[in-house]
Amino acid sequence: MSATLNPNIFRAYDIRGVAERDLTTESVVPIANSFAAMLVDAGSRDVALGRDVRASSPRIAEVFRQALSSAGLQVYDLGIVSTPMLYYGVSRFQRGGGVMITASHNPSPDNGLKLLINDVAISGDRIQEIYQGAQAGRKIVADGGAVHTTDILDTYVTELTEQACIGPRALKIAVDGGNGMSGPSITRLLDRLGIEHIDLYCDPDGDFPNHHPDPTQIDTLVDLQRTVLEHGCDLGLAFDGDGDRIGVVDEEGRVIHGDRLVIIYAREILKEVPGARIVGEVKCSDTLFSMIEKWGGDPIMSRVGHSFIKATLRENGALLAGEMSGHMFFKHRYYGFDDAVYAAMRLLEIASNVPEDAPFSTLLADVPDTVTTPEIRVDCPDISKFGVVDSVVSHFRALRPVEDIDGARIRFENGWGLVRASNTQPVLVLRFEATTDAELNAYQSEIMEVVTAAISACDDSV
Ligand SMILES: [Zn+2]
Repeated sequence: MSATLNPNIFRAYDIRGVAERDLTTESVVPIANSFAAMLVDAGSRDVALGRDVRASSPRIAEVFRQALSSAGLQVYDLGIVSTPMLYYGVSRFQRGGGVMITASHNPSPDNGLKLLINDVAISGDRIQEIYQGAQAGRKIVADGGAVHTTDILDTYVTELTEQACIGPRALKIAVDGGNGMSGPSITRLLDRLGIEHIDLYCDPDGDFPNHHPDPTQIDTLVDLQRTVLEHGCDLGLAFDGDGDRIGVVDEEGRVIHGDRLVIIYAREILKEVPGARIVGEVKCSDTLFSMIEKWGGDPIMSRVGHSFIKATLRENGALLAGEMSGHMFFKHRYYGFDDAVYAAMRLLEIASNVPEDAPFSTLLADVPDTVTTPEIRVDCPDISKFGVVDSVVSHFRALRPVEDIDGARIRFENGWGLVRASNTQPVLVLRFEATTDAELNAYQSEIMEVVTAAISACDDSV
């Protein structure tokens, strides 16, 4: 069987498109067969299957149940779960693979697939292999396959509850589930831990009727911020659509970005494991790396992107990694995948040990304040974006220290500027940090001038 597949849905880290256009049953059948064959090739015997609450998810799940079981695999169908619960099902029971049907925080007409071989999500070339196998109509048929329906929510929440070391302080927490997949597990966890919580939008609803479930977009946090202030909460927690990214606001409703969260976690881990390695991405604040060092840890800077961060965590034997976007990967006491409800539990442990009369924000009181820009996106064609970054690297290398693991992170006296090519779009992503606004502006204009010149030089040569 050959199918007409939209090649653009096969992205760097997952497969994602409009469900009724790109992921019709006719399109998903060859994708599922191709993945089943890849699992058999890898020697896998069993696979966990999960889905979010989107209207198209049950249909896509049915295709996978059939394809995986007819390839001779034992399919453990976890039903409606968050992405981390699917990862948990794979890691905890050492399944040979996993399929998560979700488009994370994308609008409700979209859907997507995250595919795992053993406990590693496939990316890049392996996703292209799925595409090629699907195009070629690759399919393995074998006896002995079966579908087993299992409910994992209780096992998952029980493990998190048993692990939690909650301190003496009575907490009041506001929770915004964004109608995504984390609502049922976080509310159940808070109940079991005996923590008072005020819930917003904790019932999964694939139409996301209240707001977009993406805590990196500050305007999605307005209701959470208001609730924290109205109810005098100690902090507020938000979750993205499929539950692998966390958003946090403090007692004043101020957003705590991903790199500042890693600082909070890192200090606790380093008390327990002196010298631990902790990973941040190249977009993170200098304060993250300097505070880890100050507390006796070993900070590691990673390239941007889920699979790079995970690989850096694994290869260095690090205990924690975090991204600006709110993905937090705990290898310390956990499996090393990004799980926002687990990250919430670790934050509750820390918050419940803050003295009664001190606000949550005291956890960052000794961390230097810096000024930063948000991510600045500059259009630049795919064909020239890497060339532009190369010429920025060579320009500044003659003048200043440059870290070039992912783009150019250029060091100035009191800060840095980053110029990198987006992994997924025809844009350059820039970010700046300094100790004062004046320095920030100076660094930004010096770098922008070089970037603009490099873009027009590339335009002329293409
Ligand atoms: Zn997500």
